Amino acid sequence: MDVDKHAEELASALGVDKQEAKADLESLLQYSVPLEEAKQSVRRKHSDGDGAETDAQPESLPLDEIATGLNNVTVTVRVLTVGTRRIQYQGDEQTIREGRFADETGTISYTAWQDFGFEAGDSLVVGNAGVREWEGEPELNLGASTSVAMADEPVDTEATVGGDSDLIDLSPGDRGRTVEVTVEEVERRTIDGRDGETEILSGVLADDTARLPFTDWDPHDAVETGGSCRIEDVYIREYRGSPSINVSEFSTVTPLSEPVEATDSAPELPLAEAVDSGGLFDVEVVANVLEVRDGSGLIERCPECGRVIQNDQCRSHGAVDGEDDLRIKAILDDGTETVTAIIGAELTEEIYGGGIEAAKEAARDAMDKEVVADTIREKLVGDSYRVRGSLSIDEYGANLTVEAFGPADEDPAAQATAVLAGVRQ
Ligand SMILES: [Zn+2]
Repeated sequence: MDVDKHAEELASALGVDKQEAKADLESLLQYSVPLEEAKQSVRRKHSDGDGAETDAQPESLPLDEIATGLNNVTVTVRVLTVGTRRIQYQGDEQTIREGRFADETGTISYTAWQDFGFEAGDSLVVGNAGVREWEGEPELNLGASTSVAMADEPVDTEATVGGDSDLIDLSPGDRGRTVEVTVEEVERRTIDGRDGETEILSGVLADDTARLPFTDWDPHDAVETGGSCRIEDVYIREYRGSPSINVSEFSTVTPLSEPVEATDSAPELPLAEAVDSGGLFDVEVVANVLEVRDGSGLIERCPECGRVIQNDQCRSHGAVDGEDDLRIKAILDDGTETVTAIIGAELTEEIYGGGIEAAKEAARDAMDKEVVADTIREKLVGDSYRVRGSLSIDEYGANLTVEAFGPADEDPAAQATAVLAGVRQ
C-alpha cells in the first residue's frame, strides 16, 4: 500500500507536516487497523474539533445504544476486565479473552476470539465488532475482521477499572475477576474430564463479605486450607443457584502474608426471597418448625452409597448391613414459604440430647425406633428457630442443608461461632 500517498493526502487536508501524518498512519497500521479507519484516526487527532473534520470521524457508538441486531459497530471504550478461558467451540479447543468494556454511557461485555493484547485500563477504538446476544444482553464479538487501536485519550467511565471484587458482588457470568480470600475448605478430587481422569480442587473461599464454593480446574499449590491468597483471573458460574468461583490454568494464585478475614455471618432472608433466588450457598432464615418428617431420628444408611435404607434393603445394593445414623428432616415455615431443613448427625445429637448409642438404647427399651423421632418432634415442632445453611432447589423442592440451628431469640454471634466450628472440622 502506498502509505506516502495517503500521508500526503492527509497532510494537505489537515494542514500538517507530511512526515508527521505518515508516522501517525504507520503506527496505527502496525496495530492492523484497516487503512480507512487509520486515516480517520489521524484526521481526528489533528482536527480541533471545531470544523468540518469532525464529520469525517468514524461513528463510534455510545455503549448504551448498542443493541442486538446491529453489526460491525465501532466503539471507543475503556477496558474494565480481561479474563482468559479455554473453551470448546464447534469441536475445537480455543482460547478466548472475555470481560467488560465501558464508556461514559455504560458497560458491555465482550468476547475476543484472538489475543489483541489489550489490558484492563487501556482505552481503545474497537472497529468492526460484531454484536450478539449473551445471557439476554448485547455483547461485542471481536474476531478476525475486528480492528483494535489505542484511543487518543483516556476514555472516561464511572465503572471500576480492573477485576478486583468482593465475594458478595460476584454474579454468574462475571469473568476476569480478582479476589483476595481465605481458603476455608479444600478437597482434592479426581473427575472424569474431557481428557480422561483429571485432578481438581473444590471447597469454600471466604472474604469479609461472603463465603462461596469454588473449583480449581488446574490445582494451584497455594490453594490450601487456612491459607490466604490473591487469585487473579477467575470466572463465575452458577452452581445450584449460587455463584461459584472457577479457578483455571490462566488464573494466577499468589499467597498473601496477611491473612484475609472471613465473614462469620450470612445474609438473613425471608424464605420466599431465598427460594426465589434459585439457591444460596450460605443463608440465614428465621422460621417455625411445622413438622418433623418420616425418616428422621434413628435411621440406617447403606454402607455402599450412604442412602437411607429400610429393613436392610438398599434400592441399588440389595441386602446390606445398614449403618446407624441420626438426622432430622424438618419442614420450616416463616409465613412466606416452606423448605425442608436437613440436619446432620452432630446437630441432631445436640437437639435430641444424646448420641447414636443413647438413641439405640431408647429404641430398644420402647421396641420402636420411632421414639427417637417422637422425642425430637416434641422438642422442635411449633417453635421458632434461626437456621443457617446452604439452600438448594431441585425438582423435588427446596432443601436447606443446615450448618447452624438454634432458638430464634439466641444471640446471632453464638450462631456464627457454631457455624465456624462446624466449618473448621
Ligand atoms: Zn446402597
